[in-house]
Amino acid sequence: MTNQTKHIAIIGAGLVGSLLSIYLSKRGYQVSVFERRGDIREKNSDVGRSINLALSTRGIRALEEVGLADETKKVSIPMHGRMMHDKNGNLTFQAYGKQGQYINSISRSGLNMALMDKAEENNVRFLFHQRCTQVNFDNTSVTFQTEGSDKFQTLTFDWVVGADGAFSAVRSAMQITDRFDYSQHYLEHGYKELHIPSDKSGAFVLEKNALHIWPRESFMMIALPNPDGSFTCTLFFPFEGEVSFAALSNDNQILSSFEKVFPDAFKHMPDLLEDFNTNPTSSLVTIKCFPWVCNKTFLIGDAAHGIVPFYGQGMNSGFEDCRILNQLLNEHHDDWMSVLPAFQKTRKKDSDAIAQLAIDNFIEMRDLVADPEFLLRKKIEAKLHELYPEKWIPLYSMVTFNENISYSQAYLTGQKQKKIMDSVMKKACIADQWQQLNFQEIVDQLS
Ligand code: FAD
Repeated sequence: MTNQTKHIAIIGAGLVGSLLSIYLSKRGYQVSVFERRGDIREKNSDVGRSINLALSTRGIRALEEVGLADETKKVSIPMHGRMMHDKNGNLTFQAYGKQGQYINSISRSGLNMALMDKAEENNVRFLFHQRCTQVNFDNTSVTFQTEGSDKFQTLTFDWVVGADGAFSAVRSAMQITDRFDYSQHYLEHGYKELHIPSDKSGAFVLEKNALHIWPRESFMMIALPNPDGSFTCTLFFPFEGEVSFAALSNDNQILSSFEKVFPDAFKHMPDLLEDFNTNPTSSLVTIKCFPWVCNKTFLIGDAAHGIVPFYGQGMNSGFEDCRILNQLLNEHHDDWMSVLPAFQKTRKKDSDAIAQLAIDNFIEMRDLVADPEFLLRKKIEAKLHELYPEKWIPLYSMVTFNENISYSQAYLTGQKQKKIMDSVMKKACIADQWQQLNFQEIVDQLS
């Protein structure tokens, strides 16, 4: 059978399913994407206010291979570093990497629509309002329910891909097969999307080219810029307790607590109450499972590995899944029976690594970024990187700017670097004398 005659069904037209459909159609497969929701490109679709994501090197590399990187970069806003806001509104800027390195704020729906358009140019067929309700792994068939009706249909394919996100129906069907490992872990924090509009002239009211953070130890708010001059803010806040969503139960409490805790943001949030009361409070979950493959059905993206958003890598890692899968298809000449075991083996260890890094980064973002000792540590690491660019690459740079270093390698090297830096930071008078450190000796400890 040639690729042309093989029919692949992708469940989920989100970011990862849409990108994968392009890769597979370019290889000559017949690809159909089944999506539970309506077409987000339709005028009356419920896309809502702009929600953005940080796109970084791994994601860009995957987009490059399907010819979408330049177009995407044109509509994104470079963020060169973190802009930290303290309780008095004082600002501290910390660059993410070397000069010229940045992450990109991009509209989630805009990117999803661009991927779908590109997929259709490549003859991918999208079928909307089709909810996957059941998968039969023995004969590779999927049952779909047309949303809002009691119409069901069962279709058979050569391959089925579950790209249906963190609460995947394909994965749920795998869960009742033998020896399927599954875990889900919720944080005590939830999140709510809020909004800082542009000023009357359409200009940004905060620095445009930065990811803004209001670190407050046990919680934080972040903001990413949008092309229309606004910022999308995300409040990460405990669900329960003295300082929590549960404790903000009326309008006065919401206003007074924002005014006290985020004073400089508060004055730019005229719609705070409406946003706060209307937008949902959502949970944050890490999902792990294995195997990702059951006969001729497999999982990809959040369906295989749902992670918390604090490293900005969920979509990026899902895009990297697509690129690596394509690379394996090249290496194994489309022999899927060899490709899929290799795919899940390599991606599982990397997705476990980024899942852990994402949890660790929550603590760094909400707490440490405001700590002078942490900032000094970053300064010393930046110096090490400047002096020995190949030998000492800070963890954030390995994860965000270096797609040739896998997440699992980055994690292991990061652990070693942490140990070395912990002892460097214990040296007497380090704050005043760090320039006199023997940097060569520090770097040598890595090898
Ligand atoms: P999804 O985007 O969830 O898409 C799944 C699709 O499947 C959806 O369209 C859904 O409707 C459809 N579907 C679900 N069930 C069915 C069914 N039964 N039948 C048919 N269709 C179905 N990542 C980054 O890289 N950078 C960031 O800055 C970033 N920020 C984030 C901020 C927040 C607050 C959150 C929550 C996540 C963030 N992420 C970020 C992670 C990113 O959103 C996800 O990793 C990414 O959306 C995963 O894409 P996906 O296609 O695998 O899943």
